[in-house]
Amino acid sequence: MALATSIKCSKDGNPMTFTYESEKLEKGHVRVILYYKCPVCGSRKDLEELRIERSGENIVITRRVYSGSSDQGT
Ligand SMILES: [Zn+2]
Repeated sequence: MALATSIKCSKDGNPMTFTYESEKLEKGHVRVILYYKCPVCGSRKDLEELRIERSGENIVITRRVYSGSSDQGT
């Protein structure tokens, strides 16, 4: 199977690159956003958001998947 599911930019048709960014929140919480980005025009398609929270000794991961079926209207 191919390494990446080929997602193409809706604007210019170039293959988008899978990447992520993480952001530290208060109380040691972390938010990670997984997305595809077009290297040419910078267009971005969010895939999934992970929220990692610590409560005592436990780590709670909340996962939120974006439904990317339709193009963004903006
Ligand atoms: Zn593009």
